[in-house]
Order: sequence, then structure tokens, then C-alpha cells
Amino acid sequence: MAAYASCSACQGIGSFKCPDCACPRCNATGSVEDSCPKCHGAAKVTCETCRGEGRVLTKKGFFSDKYAQCWKCKGSRQQDCTCRAGKVVVRCPSCNEGRSPQCPHCGSTGQLKCSTCNGSGKVKSRWFTSLANMTVEQLKFERNTRNDAIASDRDEIQGIRSEISDMRSQLKELEDYWQEQMEARSYFTKIEGGAPVGLEGIPRAIRRLESDAETINNKIRNAKAEVAAIDEVIRVKLAGT
Ligand SMILES: [Zn+2]
Ligand SMILES: [Zn+2]
Ligand SMILES: [Zn+2]
Ligand SMILES: [Zn+2]
Ligand SMILES: [Zn+2]
Repeated sequence: MAAYASCSACQGIGSFKCPDCACPRCNATGSVEDSCPKCHGAAKVTCETCRGEGRVLTKKGFFSDKYAQCWKCKGSRQQDCTCRAGKVVVRCPSCNEGRSPQCPHCGSTGQLKCSTCNGSGKVKSRWFTSLANMTVEQLKFERNTRNDAIASDRDEIQGIRSEISDMRSQLKELEDYWQEQMEARSYFTKIEGGAPVGLEGIPRAIRRLESDAETINNKIRNAKAEVAAIDEVIRVKLAGT
């Protein structure tokens, strides 16, 4: 039993998007495409290398200068504009970051605080709420019950750990024994009965015990969270008297 649950009204987000002030012009994104001011939408500007001449001076002569075709624009007199296909992205002039200014509902933040969870995205679970109806004595009893459970769960984990360590040394012995057997015989001679079953059985049993220990650890974690929640209620109750 967790003290808090995710708020179902807002899916745990804590707020809703305000439906009243989304800017229709930019679809609430806050930016729109506009014609590029440099090329006026043409996507091409005058070639900077030849300044739109289409040719560049290569040799200054006494009677006549020598020109060659501009290497940059290849004589077209224009080069590509830095914009994207004649368009640039600009701030939407009709709104403030996607929201029309002065929304009376959300103060133009675009977010309405969820009233169910007061914006936190979390609500007290039914179990946590039910604690408020208990007396301090009852609460202490609930807490002690959990602390006792935590203590016995810890003992159980301790037992499992020592069981695992016994099994590990058993396995080590078995592996050493099997290694000797293999080395004592010629490589191609079949050993009667094959490998001892424990070589596979013990690791499997260890894995099972480790997963049991993990399950109990989770139980302890939950119980600790409950104890913390109960302590919080006790503190509030004692402060109120
Ligand atoms: Zn709004
Ligand atoms: Zn807009
Ligand atoms: Zn442009
Ligand atoms: Zn040019
Ligand atoms: Zn909520």
C-alpha cells in the first residue's frame, strides 16, 4: 500500500493544457513560417562574388580588361539564399509562445493546474487517507506490526544468504571433484554416469534463492514506505493536540 497514487484526473502530470487560449495561427507552437526578407521568397540572392555581374575581372589591360565567367554563380549572377526555400521561421506575431495574451483562465501560461491533486500529480491513496481516522495508539500498533514484519523478513533474508553461501562451497567442491575425474581419465573415455547432476542443479537452486531474496527485499521496501507514511500521520496528529 503506497501512501500516494498517481492522480487519475491529470494522468500524473499535474496540469491540463488550457483549451481557451491556444493560438490558431501557429497552432500553439509559437512560431510561423514567413517569406525570407533577404530574398523575398525567391530563395536566390545576388551573387556576392561577382556582385551580380556574372563575370569577374582577371587581368587589367591597357586598352581592355580581361574577364572570366564568375566561378561562384557560373554566370547566373545569383547564389542560393541562406534561408530554406525562400522561407524563414519567425515568432508568431499573434501570440505569446503559442498562447494568446491575457487568457483569463490560465494567465497565458497555457497550463491549468489540476485541482484534484493541486498540481502535484499525486493523490493520497485510499489507505493513506484511512490512516487519518485512526487514533495515535492504533497508528503506533500499525507501525509496530510493520516493523516486526520487517525484522522477520530481514532474518529470512539472512537465512537465505547463508544457504546460498553453503551451496556455493558445495558447488566449488563438486567442480573440483569433477575436474579431477576428467583429468584422471583419457579425454575420450566416457565417465560412467556422466557429470554429477549438482553441477547444474546447484546453480539453478542458487538463482531461485536469489530471486526469493529479491522478492522479500521488495516487501521490506514497501513496508518501510508505509512506516514512513504512518509516522508522518502520527507527527501531524501529535502536533494537532
Ligand atoms: Zn489559457
Ligand atoms: Zn501564434
Ligand atoms: Zn532567403
Ligand atoms: Zn557570381
Ligand atoms: Zn491531477
